[in-house]
Amino acid sequence: MTDQQIAHQVVLKPIATIAEKFGIDPETIDMYGKYKAKIPLNAIDRVKAKNSNLILVSAISPTPAGEGKTTMSIGLSEGLNRLGKKTTVVLREPSLGPIFGIKGGATGGGYSQVLPMEDINLHFTGDFSAIEKAHNLLAAIIDNNIQSKTNSVRLDPRTIGWKRVMDMNDRSLRHIIVGLGGTTSGVPRETGFDITAASEIMAILCLAESLTDLKQRLGNIFVGYTFDKEPIYAKDLKAEGAMAALLKDAIKPNLVQTIEGNPAIIHGGPFANIAQGTNSVIATLMGMTHSDYTVTEAGFGFDLGAEKFFDIKCQSADLKPKAVVLTTTIRALKYHGGADLKSLTEPDVEALKKGLPNLEKHLENITKFHVVPVIAINKFISDTDEEIKVIKELAKSKGIRVAVAEVWAKGGEGALELAQHIIHVVESGASDFKPLYDWNSSVQDKIATIATEIYGAEYVDYTAKAKANLRKISDLGLDNLPVCIAKTQKSLSDNPKLLGRPKDFIITVREIEIAVGAGFLIPITGDIMRMPGLPAHPASEGIDINDDGEITGLF
Ligand code: ADP
Ligand code: MG
Repeated sequence: MTDQQIAHQVVLKPIATIAEKFGIDPETIDMYGKYKAKIPLNAIDRVKAKNSNLILVSAISPTPAGEGKTTMSIGLSEGLNRLGKKTTVVLREPSLGPIFGIKGGATGGGYSQVLPMEDINLHFTGDFSAIEKAHNLLAAIIDNNIQSKTNSVRLDPRTIGWKRVMDMNDRSLRHIIVGLGGTTSGVPRETGFDITAASEIMAILCLAESLTDLKQRLGNIFVGYTFDKEPIYAKDLKAEGAMAALLKDAIKPNLVQTIEGNPAIIHGGPFANIAQGTNSVIATLMGMTHSDYTVTEAGFGFDLGAEKFFDIKCQSADLKPKAVVLTTTIRALKYHGGADLKSLTEPDVEALKKGLPNLEKHLENITKFHVVPVIAINKFISDTDEEIKVIKELAKSKGIRVAVAEVWAKGGEGALELAQHIIHVVESGASDFKPLYDWNSSVQDKIATIATEIYGAEYVDYTAKAKANLRKISDLGLDNLPVCIAKTQKSLSDNPKLLGRPKDFIITVREIEIAVGAGFLIPITGDIMRMPGLPAHPASEGIDINDDGEITGLF
């Protein structure tokens, strides 16, 4: 059965019923049809949230075979609920780019899904559109200011880094010239489009804790320099009030349900390389306010999404996770061990053993944050008992808990062993979360700490451009911001071809961007795609709708 067929077998509960189960008065939610709602921000209670146990779901280095973090997060939350722990899963919102491209949606799979999957995957409650509008409002204000004679802040158009955004894989918009058509149609300059998930506003919305905080962060967006080399921020253009007004609904987290009728919160969707790669702080705090256990996911592998989750999000919002689920697949480890993508469904203990160092490195990295890891083997039909034994033996030798999780095939029933391990870890109080670095150390120290400790690099090299960026950051007084390193997700190193556990490599920082609004610096270590293209045969070719409004072809 396809994910969509499984989803359609479920009789959905009205969202008011889910709100009640979640623990809030259904009268207070904003209804978006029968099965979606927005929760007001005043339903967050910081004191109550502190008592919730936050569980992070991460994974080994991703491969084209797919790891299943979202599916695992949903399944684990169903499992914990079955064991009597009130649990909410808190996830990112899907972007339309991957839906029409290659990857598909982001609502889980098999018997671990959030519903209604068509709605969540297509527009949902309009948050991405609102982010796009707020982003493009600032872009319009900037170009208008360059055009204006009376209101000019004397921006040097060549220094403007702020582009436009759209939620679509459209490579032909990557580089454009605006302002053509003569004196009444703007000042010509080169710019481009990013996909909405890559907007700094997405990162801002996901770190903001209130509308006031949101406005302040929006005002701090760095726009460029004047001809006299003075920095210009969005607040200098008086943009932040109107931008925040456009985000008045987008800032509220979205409530939906899982296949087993438990509450799920889905909110925000920033990238995990140029941004923090996890849902909004507001959504996490909302889940934590009303649940014993809150399960959440960070994008890509532990080295990217989870490091940022810990060092940026948890520090920013004062969160202390109690355990990490490291989603592991036998297929991916075989790939890291040198097996061919096409042969991953064939038993291959040798390749699996060769791939284990990737798993080991991620486990070591988790303990650097003083949080206890639990390995979740995301079971695929092709996995053999012999292969599973190899991972179990590794876990045993290291004293790490491991469970085979059949969440895709069985939902919460398939996650009971994993859920029990999580409860043990939490109740033992063994985790005592500590971030990896101090925000107040120097930018180079922060980058070096992540590169050597987490990636396993020998040292960090800087191009001339990156060195100039360091001076600029220092001149702007931004040295105390955390760093959000943009790196390939495919390797622990900055070279996508180095699989497994690369050794003896150097990380090269090519440039460092500043996202003052979001509140971090972005050292760039490779070509990071911010406006993907569609493949020759995009997934959109298989998507359809009939006269009854039933959509097919989503996955
Ligand atoms: P991630 O969050 O790590 O990107 P997802 O949970 O979105 O991964 O899963 C990626 C894809 O793999 C989804 O289409 C999902 O249905 C599928 N998938 C996940 N786990 C399994 C499994 N055990 N067996 C088969 N397919 C799976
Ligand atoms: Mg995911």
